[in-house]
Amino acid sequence: MAQQFEDRFHRKFYYLRLSVTDVCNFKCTYCLPHGYRPTNKPSTFLSLPEIERVIAAFSDCGTDKIRITGGEPSMRRDLPEIIHAAANRVSEVAMTTNGYRMARDVATWREAGLTRINVSVDSLDPRQFAQITGENRFAQVMAGIDQAFAVGFEQIKVNSVLLKDLNSQDLPKFLAWIKDRPIQLRFIELMQTGEMDSLFTKHHQSGVSIRNQLMAQGWQLKARKANDGPAQVFTHPDYLGEIGLIMPYEKGFCASCNRLRISALGKLHLCLFGDQGIDLRDYLQADNQKPELIEQIQQALQSKAQGHYLHLGDSGATPHLASIGG
Ligand code: SAM
Ligand code: SF4
Repeated sequence: MAQQFEDRFHRKFYYLRLSVTDVCNFKCTYCLPHGYRPTNKPSTFLSLPEIERVIAAFSDCGTDKIRITGGEPSMRRDLPEIIHAAANRVSEVAMTTNGYRMARDVATWREAGLTRINVSVDSLDPRQFAQITGENRFAQVMAGIDQAFAVGFEQIKVNSVLLKDLNSQDLPKFLAWIKDRPIQLRFIELMQTGEMDSLFTKHHQSGVSIRNQLMAQGWQLKARKANDGPAQVFTHPDYLGEIGLIMPYEKGFCASCNRLRISALGKLHLCLFGDQGIDLRDYLQADNQKPELIEQIQQALQSKAQGHYLHLGDSGATPHLASIGG
C-alpha cells in the first residue's frame, strides 16, 4: 500500500466522497432552488475509466469507504458500473440519493455492490416535502425506502435538513416513524453556501434544540468509535431507529474530519467549504499516471486547513452542495 493520506494535523483520510454528477432533478430550496442549470455538459463529468482511476489511487492509499454522491447520482446511466468499480476496491460503498429512482433501481444497486444507502427526506408530510424539494415525490421515496429494506439493506440512513418553522417542530412525527424501523434519522444543520440568499437567516436552527429534547426523553449519546464521522448518534431502548445530529457550526466539528472529496469534474476538495478545488483531471487519463496522481493528492493535503470558517459566515467557494457533492 502507498502511504496513507494524512494531513499536517495527523488526521488520516480513508473516506472518499465521490461526486459523479452535478445534475439533479429536484429543486431543494437550500440547494438548487431554481433547479439544475447546466453549466457543465454531462459529457464533461468524469467518465467511468476516470472514476476507476480515482478509486484505484484512493484505495491504494488506505481508503476503505467510498460514498457516491452528486447532484443526484441516480441520474447517471452507468451508476451500477460505478458502484461495481468501487466495490471491487473498497469494503464499504455508500450512496446518498434523493430516492427518486430507489424503488425501481435499488435491487440493481445492491447487486452491483452497494453496502449502505442514505436517502434524503426533509419532511414526513407530503405537502411539506413537495414545498421543500420542489417535487411531489413523497410516496415514491417512501416506496424506495420499503424496497431498500426488501432487497436486504439492514439499516437505512435518512438525511433531513433541519429547517426552522418548516420541519423543526416535527420531531415527534419523525420519532414515531423510526420507532419500529431500523432507520438512522440524521438531522443536518442547514449550512450556508455561496448562492444561498435569506434562506439561511430565515431557516437555520441549531441542532442543540433537538439534542435537548432527545436527552429530556431518555435518548442517550452513543459512544464514538475511533473512525466515526462527525455525527452525534443517539439511541433509546424503546426505539429500533436512531437519531443522528450533524452540527457543523459546533466547536470541534472538524477535528474528526476523515474525508476527502472529488467533484464530478475531477477536482479534489479538501473541505466542503474550501476553495475552488485542485484539478486532478490531467492525472486521470491513463492507468500509469497513478503515482503522479497520488503525489498530487499527498501534496495538496498539506494545505488542508484545520477547520472551516462557516461560523464567520465564510462558506468558501461552494455555490451549493450539489456542485461538489454534499
Ligand atoms: N441528491 C442527493 C440527496 O439529496 O440526497 C445527494 C446530494 S445532496 C447535495 C447531499 C446531502 O446534502 C443531502 O442530504 C442534502 O439534504 C444535503 N444538503 C444540501 N444542501 C445543504 C445545505 N445547504 N445544508 C445542509 N445540508 C444540505
Ligand atoms: Fe438535488 Fe440533493 Fe441538492 Fe436536493 S439536496 S437539489 S436532491 S442535489
